[in-house]
Amino acid sequence: MNKKLPNTAYFCMEYGIDSKIKTYAGGLGILAGDYMKGAHDYHYPLIGLGLKWKQGYTDQRIDEEGNPYDSYHNNDYHCLEDTGVKVNVKIRERDVVIKVWKVVNYGVCPLYFLDTDLPENEDAWITGQLYGWFGEERIAQEMVLGIGGVRALRALGHEVEVYHFNEGHAVFAGLELIKEKMDKGLSFINAKCKTIDEVVFTTHTPIVQGNESHPLHRLMYMGANNGLTFEQMVDIGGAPFNMTVAALRLSRISNAVAQLHAETANKMWMHIDNRSEIIGITNAIHMPTWVDENMIKAAEEKSQVWENHMKNKHDLIAFVKERTGVALDADKLLIGFSRRAAPYKRSNLIFTDTEIIEPLLREGKIQIVFSGKAHPLDDTGKDIIKNIVNMTKKYPNSVVFLENYDMTIGKMLTRGSDIWLNNPRRPLEASGTSGMKAAMNGVINFSILDGWWPEACNHGVNGWQFGDGKALEDFQTEEELDNHDLKALYHVLLNEVIPTYYNNKAKWVEMMINSINSTKDYFSVKRMLEEYFEKMYIKNN
Ligand SMILES: *Cc1c(COP(=O)(O)O)cnc(C)c1O
Repeated sequence: MNKKLPNTAYFCMEYGIDSKIKTYAGGLGILAGDYMKGAHDYHYPLIGLGLKWKQGYTDQRIDEEGNPYDSYHNNDYHCLEDTGVKVNVKIRERDVVIKVWKVVNYGVCPLYFLDTDLPENEDAWITGQLYGWFGEERIAQEMVLGIGGVRALRALGHEVEVYHFNEGHAVFAGLELIKEKMDKGLSFINAKCKTIDEVVFTTHTPIVQGNESHPLHRLMYMGANNGLTFEQMVDIGGAPFNMTVAALRLSRISNAVAQLHAETANKMWMHIDNRSEIIGITNAIHMPTWVDENMIKAAEEKSQVWENHMKNKHDLIAFVKERTGVALDADKLLIGFSRRAAPYKRSNLIFTDTEIIEPLLREGKIQIVFSGKAHPLDDTGKDIIKNIVNMTKKYPNSVVFLENYDMTIGKMLTRGSDIWLNNPRRPLEASGTSGMKAAMNGVINFSILDGWWPEACNHGVNGWQFGDGKALEDFQTEEELDNHDLKALYHVLLNEVIPTYYNNKAKWVEMMINSINSTKDYFSVKRMLEEYFEKMYIKNN
């Protein structure tokens, strides 16, 4: 790249930086944290904006009856520096003061956290809990991130050429960019066109209902319209005001987070006029955070691969023992599975046919370690977790659930498992990055062809697929798809995974090596940063 790289401001509700600081809920935050870390490593001109969550996301534990329950603790921020900068945003007719903190250790890439928890604020609660609410509270949070974020950049004196909205939460920043231009005398149309030229957007969710929208009158009395009229707001996001639609209309280019997801997203938003094109930029991970470098080295040298893996597996087994008291067997196949408890991820799929799964679990042919959280207000998700916890009671020596899924658990599981199971209903998994962590640690992916996996999978060579890429649209009902995928899962498990593990260690090790070597370059954050700058931030015309 020889063009000068544009200074870019990256807006995101969550950042997964450190396991202990719950400023993240899941994949979106992990991605944002890895992105910032990568930008720092490779000296990209990126500025991050997020919220300083007082509590952040839930600590979710399991009670005696196997029910998940939520608790929150105040984050202990040991890594923040006061910038001395404060900005104001009017929310519900009240001035809210926002203090700007800088996360230290991000060196060349400043990461700022915006904070309303100040004695002078009646609305100190706004930056309390991440995704705690859906209505006015969520809008207030998004106003702090978007409108407050742009004002913070101005007050800090950063010159910004590109504004990147990572998910629709940040879209009110676009309204502030329009307002700035209208305050200088531009018409709405001209201000909007100029703004579009500066904004890029990443969409993350292929589920229609997962794309947030708000009643327009609510946005108006909250002040989220930022001076724009009802009609101008309709022009941008429709009524109700859809955050994703608005972001698609306020950006010059958008992206989805895997190639298959780009196809899905373009179909999903086909009927929206005046929107940006959605290209595919596949997610990636920050290797120093997730990958055991000894595994990379071992795969390069094709030596000590199994020995290194067994060390990681023993570490995981010790971790499981410490957390749950269960003693897993290092000689038996260990399946890892950690996901948010959303129905489309089908956490319980593998248990569906007891006649098949029961003997495997009773004889200890397979052991499964689960982890994951349900959203605090999602009872369906909590039932999913309760179901898994029931399985741990039924098969106490071979099924384990690790409560309070976080970055530490994510790292232990994607290093120490033998295989990484992933069985979403295609095409609802946008990308998935846990599979990349696993792949580079020599933990073999065993997955539906969804998200990133169709781009990496070479069946029987660097991992396994099941389901042959069949999707929801190929069947009349979800149940038919589930049956199809279940049969395929068992077939590959019984005929390929288990025999290879127990009878052909040489092939298994070969597959581990192929898994690492075929993923470590393409799915590392370096490639992702290059693509974002090349295809999104630099203007190519
Ligand atoms: C990697 C990671 C994720 C994202 O992984 P998915 O494959 O999208 O589920 C979410 N949460 C934690 C704690 C992680 O480490």
